[in-house]
Formats: sequence, C-alpha cells, structure tokens
Amino acid sequence: QQAAYAAIRDLPAETLDGQRVALHLNAGLLIDLPQLDATGADGVGLYRTEIPFMVRASFPDVAAQTGIYRGVLYQAGERPVTFRTLDVGGDKRLPYLPPSQDENPALGWRAIRMSLDRPAMLSHQLRALLTAADGHLLRVMFPMVAEVAELEAARTILERERRRLAERGVAPARIEVGVMMEVPSLAFQLDALLPRIDFLSVGSNDLMQFLFACDRGNPKVSGRYDVLSPPALTFLKRLTDACAAGGVPLAVCGEMAARPLEAMALVGLGIRVLSMPAASVGPVKTMVRSLRSAPLASYLERHMASATRSLRNQLKAFAQDHG
Ligand code: PEP
Ligand code: MG
Repeated sequence: QQAAYAAIRDLPAETLDGQRVALHLNAGLLIDLPQLDATGADGVGLYRTEIPFMVRASFPDVAAQTGIYRGVLYQAGERPVTFRTLDVGGDKRLPYLPPSQDENPALGWRAIRMSLDRPAMLSHQLRALLTAADGHLLRVMFPMVAEVAELEAARTILERERRRLAERGVAPARIEVGVMMEVPSLAFQLDALLPRIDFLSVGSNDLMQFLFACDRGNPKVSGRYDVLSPPALTFLKRLTDACAAGGVPLAVCGEMAARPLEAMALVGLGIRVLSMPAASVGPVKTMVRSLRSAPLASYLERHMASATRSLRNQLKAFAQDHG
C-alpha cells in the first residue's frame, strides 16, 4: 500500500467529477516538514506552535521562536504554512509552566484565552512569526476563539507588532488571518466573523467535544457520539454554505479530516481543504480520487436532515457502491 500511495504522490487529489481537494499536513516539529515532499501535500494546514514549546526546558524567547518559524518556512518553500498561535492549557501542558488548576481544563484557561490574558506572550510569538516571514506570506490562526471580540483583541496585538516591525523594514509580503472553529458559539457570529477573516479552519476534535458535551480524552464517552451523525454533519453543512456565501475558504484540520470515510463526508458537504497527519495523506487522496462528489452531496442532502442516528453505515455502503 505504501507503494500505491507513493505512486499517487504527484497526482492531484481530484474527484472523478473534477473537484479539486487541497490536502495539507498537520505538523509541529521541524522533523515533520520533510513529509511535505514525501507525501506531496499542498502545504501545512495546521502548524501547532505549542509542540516545539513542549519539548523544551524553558519558554523560548523571541529569537528562539523566530529561528523555529524560519526553519519551518524555509523547509516549506513555496508551500503555505498556517501557524496556529499557542494552544497550551487543556490537554497540552508546558513542563515549565505551573500545572493547570482548572477543574475542567478543556473548558478552562487555554489557547487564545491564555494568550489574551498574557498579551506579552502573544506579542512575542507574533513578533517572531512576522520576523520569520519577512518577505513571505504569513498565515496565522487563533485557536479556541469563542467570540469575535477575542479575534479583534488578537488582531490589535498583531497590528501593533506589524507596525513596529514595518518601521524597521521587516514585513511579510502578505498576512492572512484565520481562526479555528472549535467553540460552537462562534458559529452563531458568522455575519460578524466572516468579513474579518481570510480563512476558517474547523478543529473537529475540540468542536465535536463541545458540540456533544463529550470529553475527547475520556474513553468511557469519547466513542459515544459520532462525527457522522446528523447534528455534526448539519453543523458543518451550514458552516460550509455560510463560508461559501461569504467567500471565506474553509478547511478542516481535526482528526475527522484524517480518516477516509469522514473525509469523504466532508467532501460531500462541500469542504475542499483538509489538513491531516502525514500518514493520512495517501489514504485520503486515494479516497478522493475514487469519489464522485455530486451524487454524495445529493445523498447527504437527502438523508442528513431526517436521519435519527449516525450515517456511518450508509456512508460506508455509499463508498462501497461507488468504488
Ligand atoms: C482540533 O481541536 O481539532 C485541533 C485540530 O486542535 P488540537 O487537536 O490541537 O486541539
Ligand atoms: Mg483544538
């Protein structure tokens, strides 16, 4: 199978009815970057900046961060990299920060909440990203945004850093700002949100945990609700339609995009950018290249609203019937 995946490395992820799907990598360490060439992925759709922070003994300063981000951009070359600002707290701990006292860490002081309460930390990270991207495209994405005001606050810090560096002649060629759709409340602010962002990326791991009120790390319940059940698919369908109407590119970068059956459903819903671990690129591309997206879209359209349970078995049957 590895040979079969290698054989399609340079072929596009395109459905039989001509829909191009961009396949990106999730990455966190420099050693992940060679996977871009190995898999033929279109770019890095989710660079988890907390990962290099997690493997260090102390908090990296601006210079150290700049070095890390420069290395990532250098290895990615012409391919875009979406840098997610620090998502620590929750299930991600830094050995040199005091352990979280939160009773519900997933719902607690993490990600953008921490960044906005510690604005120096966010300023430093954004300064490092802006410096590393001097002359290049910078794509930056904020995690766990629950309301538009948080994006606005983060943007203000970004703009301040951008201006300071520009005065010294350091400037990315272009800056694109996005947010992760992980907290359901954000889906009810799309009219205000979409005009303010360049892209949106669904973190399905957190989104589904919050949508179903179901701890993603608790094996007693984590398998209880299916991401292919009607509420999940309906949520994503409405989001896809709103983004299409608003002209905002939508990606999925959670685990959902990494599994061929789930990824198939996402393509059926109209999502055209998927980001996943390197090992998933071959299997997902194989699925995309054997899929007719139009019949799947109408199939979902017909069954999604009225179904009372997960469409997993039906989607499996659809996949079998259609190659
Ligand atoms: C997600 O929540 O789906 C996601 C991609 O972010 P992480 O898994 O790093 O929380
Ligand atoms: Mg997340």
